[in-house]
Parts: sequence; structure tokens; C-alpha cells
Amino acid sequence: MTMPAIFFGHGNPMNALAQNAYTRSWSHIGASLPRPKAILCVSAHWYAPYTALTGMPSPRTIHDFGGFPRELFEFSYPAPGDPALAMRVRELLEPLDAGIDQQWGLDHGAWSVLAHVFPEADIPVVQLSIDETKPPEFHFETGKLLGPLRDENVLVVGSGNVVHNLHAYAWGRHPAEPFDWAMRFDARVRELLSSGDMMPLVDYESLGRDALLSAPTPDHYLPLLYIAGMRRAADEVSFPVTGMDGGSISMLSVRFG
Ligand code: ZN
Repeated sequence: MTMPAIFFGHGNPMNALAQNAYTRSWSHIGASLPRPKAILCVSAHWYAPYTALTGMPSPRTIHDFGGFPRELFEFSYPAPGDPALAMRVRELLEPLDAGIDQQWGLDHGAWSVLAHVFPEADIPVVQLSIDETKPPEFHFETGKLLGPLRDENVLVVGSGNVVHNLHAYAWGRHPAEPFDWAMRFDARVRELLSSGDMMPLVDYESLGRDALLSAPTPDHYLPLLYIAGMRRAADEVSFPVTGMDGGSISMLSVRFG
């Protein structure tokens, strides 16, 4: 059986503790999947000047944010690591010399979503960093190299947000009307994903003002390119979660296969 590849729009870290339409959809996605032997997660929040894989047997839960309630800082997602998977991914990425990291762990891009998708925290998780020094093509091509994992019972998850503009975000003033540019960019991305026309997605900076406002920094957009790179011609494309949070954060999820 071939594993799907899935991009999740993670949004506000508080989703980890919430029960809302988004988190319920994440739970449904988890229930719909064949049980993977492990998860490889590309999170917007491990955006570093190198490519590395978490190699520890018991990754810590990283609370990589400020200004949230104490209960979020006390949250733990105790999934095991999978050093053998880290080595397997390292091999897939050769001749790139991906590092095996012993410091990181699971950041909230990973655990705020996985807490709902796999609430038992009993499936091993490895994170792959996003090399901030590389252009978008690199991330798309790296996604292609991860393709064989779909036949090895490994679920590859991208976690970011297709639209992520925190300057425009309505903190605590929900519900907020979505911005027109956000809605347009979100729709354009869905259209391109559905048609399999990936090159404009890779070259997203050329998609105009809507793209500049929606992805003012690359970190939350790039995880999508890893998942887009894993698409196979026979895949069904679906959007199990849609919606705009706080006016300027797209909660779009994308599933291939
Ligand atoms: Zn985030």
C-alpha cells in the first residue's frame, strides 16, 4: 500500500489544546490513514542554515514560542524518535550531507497537529529541517527524493501555512474576515495543486502581490513544496481542511494519495 503525503496548515499553536473544526478534521485524517510505521515531518519551525534530521530515540517536546498560556508550555507529545529512519532519509538525500541532530526534538509545527492526528503519540517521529539558505527549487527537489518513503510505510507530513501573514493576523479578535489577497492566493495554490502544475508553486515569488502578502517570509510556505515534490501522477489530490483563521492564516491541508 502506498502512503499518502500530507501538508497541514497548523495555524495558531493553541490548536494543540483546542477542539475545533480544524482539529476535528485532523483527527479524521488520522483515522482515515493506514497506520504508518513512522512519520517524517518537515516543519516551518525548524528553519535553519542546514539540512538535518532528528536522530535521538526520545525527542523532547520543544515549546518554541512566547506569550501563550502555561498549559501550552506544559504540553508534551512523547512520541519516540526513529534513528534508523533518520539514517534512511539521510541516504535518500545523498550526495547532500544531511546532519544527524541530537539537539532539536519536536517543535510545535509537528506536535500541535500530530497531537490530533495521532493522539496516542505511539508512532515514531523524525523531523527534517528546512535549509533557509536554499532556493525554493531545492525544497521541491528534496521532496522528490523523499518519494520512496511512501512505499516504505512512512508518512511524510509538511507543516506550515500556505498563507501566513502575522502582521495582518487578528490576534484574539476572532472571527475576522479573510483578506481578499489571502483568499485569492489560497485559491490559486489549490488550483495549481489540483492541475499538477507545480512549477508556478515552486516559483511562487513570481505570482505577484498576493503571493508577497501571503508568504512574506518563506518558512511557512516551503513545507508545501516538499509534499508537492512527492506527488505521483496517479494520486488523487484532496483538501481535507480549508479555511482562513484570523483573516490571514490559511488552514489549508493538502493530501496526495
Ligand atoms: Zn507556525
